[in-house]
Amino acid sequence: MSQTMLLKPELKSMIWGGNKLGALYGLDIPTETTGEDWTLSAHPSGDCQILNGPYQGETLSHVWKEHPELFGDYPGDVFPLLAKIIDAKQDLSIQCHPDDAYAKVHENGALGKTECWYVLDADPGATIITGHSAKTKQELCDMIDNEEWDKLLVEKPVKKGDFFMIEPGTLHAIKGGTLIYELQQSSDKTYRIYDYGRLQNGQPRELHTQKAKDVLVCPTPDTSREPVEIPVEGGKMTRFTNCRFFTAEKLEVGEKAQIPEDRYFTMLTVVEGSGTIDGENVRPGMSALVTSGDKDIILTGPMTVMIGTPGKGKF
Ligand code: ZN
Repeated sequence: MSQTMLLKPELKSMIWGGNKLGALYGLDIPTETTGEDWTLSAHPSGDCQILNGPYQGETLSHVWKEHPELFGDYPGDVFPLLAKIIDAKQDLSIQCHPDDAYAKVHENGALGKTECWYVLDADPGATIITGHSAKTKQELCDMIDNEEWDKLLVEKPVKKGDFFMIEPGTLHAIKGGTLIYELQQSSDKTYRIYDYGRLQNGQPRELHTQKAKDVLVCPTPDTSREPVEIPVEGGKMTRFTNCRFFTAEKLEVGEKAQIPEDRYFTMLTVVEGSGTIDGENVRPGMSALVTSGDKDIILTGPMTVMIGTPGKGKF
C-alpha cells in the first residue's frame, strides 16, 4: 500500500535570499537572507526528515536505501529528484550546470543537473537570464574571457505562471524579485561564471569558469515548452514538461480532486492555499511524497500544488 510522507523543509541561507519563505509561507527561516527551501530532497546537502507515519524521524535518503519497493524499485543509487522553492531577493550568479556524462567524470559520479522553473510570483519589471547571444562556442568563450556580460546575456521579462526548461549547458540566472518553484535532478553542481563582483564574508564566491566553458552549449537549448491540459477529477492539471528525467505539472485543486498514483512515486509541493493530501494537512512551502501504489491520491483545497514525478532517466 502506498504511503503519504510529509517532509520537513531544509532551509538555506544565500547571499541573494530574502524573507518571503517566512513571511508568505510561515516557514521557520534561519536568516533574513533565506534563499532556498529544499522542500523535497534526499541530497546529502539537505536530506529531508519524514514527519509522519511508519518512517517518522528517518531521512528520505535512508528510506530510499532501505525500502526501494516504496519507490517502485526505481533504478539508481540515489533518490533522483529535488524540489525547491527559491526566494531571490537579489540576483543569483550567472551560471550553468553539467549533464550526467560530464558530472560522472568530473564530479565524482554526481548526477548532472537538468532543471525547470515555474514562476510563483514576480515583482513588476522582474527579469531572468536564459541564454546568450554568441554565434559560436569560440565567440561565447571569448565574450566570457572579456567579461562582455551586457552583450552576451539574454534577459527576458518574467511574470507569475511562466515556465522555463533549463537543460544542462544553458547559460542562466534567476534574478531578484522572483519566487520560483524548481524541479531538478538531485544535484548541487553549479558552475558559476560571473557573480557581479559581490562578496560573501569579505570574499568573492568561487567561480568555475573552465568547467562552465566545457559544458556551455551554443546555441542555447530551447527553454520554452508548450503546456498541456490533462483532465483530472475535481481540479485543473497543467503539464509543463515530460522529459527523460522528470514530469512537471501544476494541479489547481478546488474543493476536492483525485489523481491516479500510477508512477514510481509522486512529489507534491503546495505553493498556494492549503488543504489536505490523503488526509494529511498541508500548507504552502511544504511537500508530500506519495510512494508507489495503486490507490488514487485525494486532495482537498482550495490550493495549488506543483507535482514532480520521475522520468525514464538513464534506463
Ligand atoms: Zn541553475
